Amino acid sequence: MTVCTSSVPAVVAEIDGSALRHNLRRVRESAPGCPVAAVIKADGYGHGLIRVARALQGVDAYAVARLEEALWLREEGITGPILLLEGFLHAAELEPIARHRLTVVVHHRWQLEALEGARLPLPVQAWLKLDSGMHRLGFPPSELPAARARLAACASVTGPLVLMTHLACADDRDSPVTLRQLSLFDRFTAEADGQSIANSAAILGWPAAQRGWLRPGIMLYGASPFTEGSGESLGLRPVMTLRSRLVAVNRLREGDPVGYGGDWICPEDMPVGVVAIGYGDGYPRHAPAGTPVLIGGRQVPLVGRVSMDMITVDLRSLPHARVGDTAILWGRGLPVETVARRAGTIAYELLCGVARHRVHYQEIQHGQVL
Ligand SMILES: *Cc1c(COP(=O)(O)O)cnc(C)c1O
Repeated sequence: MTVCTSSVPAVVAEIDGSALRHNLRRVRESAPGCPVAAVIKADGYGHGLIRVARALQGVDAYAVARLEEALWLREEGITGPILLLEGFLHAAELEPIARHRLTVVVHHRWQLEALEGARLPLPVQAWLKLDSGMHRLGFPPSELPAARARLAACASVTGPLVLMTHLACADDRDSPVTLRQLSLFDRFTAEADGQSIANSAAILGWPAAQRGWLRPGIMLYGASPFTEGSGESLGLRPVMTLRSRLVAVNRLREGDPVGYGGDWICPEDMPVGVVAIGYGDGYPRHAPAGTPVLIGGRQVPLVGRVSMDMITVDLRSLPHARVGDTAILWGRGLPVETVARRAGTIAYELLCGVARHRVHYQEIQHGQVL
């Protein structure tokens, strides 16, 4: 978003590059010696693709979901390896993929056929994906050996061939599914030049998956991949702090309804604050009354429904709160996971959903504005 000098942005997403690098070190400590493909799809999980790529410069590779994301990285001068996690979505993408030296995941027969029929300026690097039980992308075990043989024989493909899979239940440390997926995967690793299994949950919770290329996403941004606990308890630092300001403080009377539908009623005479953020900025509309908002270092509860541009908060515990005070919606001091769980979703969705055309992004280092 462009900001006129005369306007003060209502909503700011502070992005802490030093926190990104700290979290990358946490990845490397968890599985020493393993190469890391930093997952920066979906505009760097809502943090800004190029900003995140630059902060993580020196990482072994980047991983994105779409060709456009990879081409944008190349345009911005990122020259290192880039992995396309879904490979190509159409055969016409193969030419730019080859020209820009992108690595593709090959997960389906139609992609093999497209590669075999392609006439490319230079061969592409490929990772081969096994469906070890998630049943989304990947060759079933029965088809994997033939797929590998066809890739090895294909003139449009060059080595080394990395075998990969994706875990369906790694975020649940008690699930038996992960070990079943790993043992199926292990039947095929002997024939591969390299391997890749681990997303954030596996890097933090499944030592048996900590080998070959790591593919951390959410943990780089400081949030926990697990259903309980926070990134902080895992030694991670939040990268995004989303903040806005109190734009009104109203003294309401007992019985006054607040917001659309009027379904939140003041239980007594009380101050209610209005914060300039809403679902139009990416704050979750389903956040219920009680969802914490951080004002003046204290958590106060959301009351009433989330509007497009505003939320209302109960200021009874903060009688001195004033118009202009900063309100933190998530980030430093208030984990995004806490807000996500209240709203019945996951940190991934909240981070990816920040409205990039409306929210002002500000880069910081060690908590300081650059
Ligand atoms: C998104 C993605 C990841 C990263 O997952 P996190 O849970 O964010 O760490 C890893 N591998 C694949 C194939 C993905 O699509």
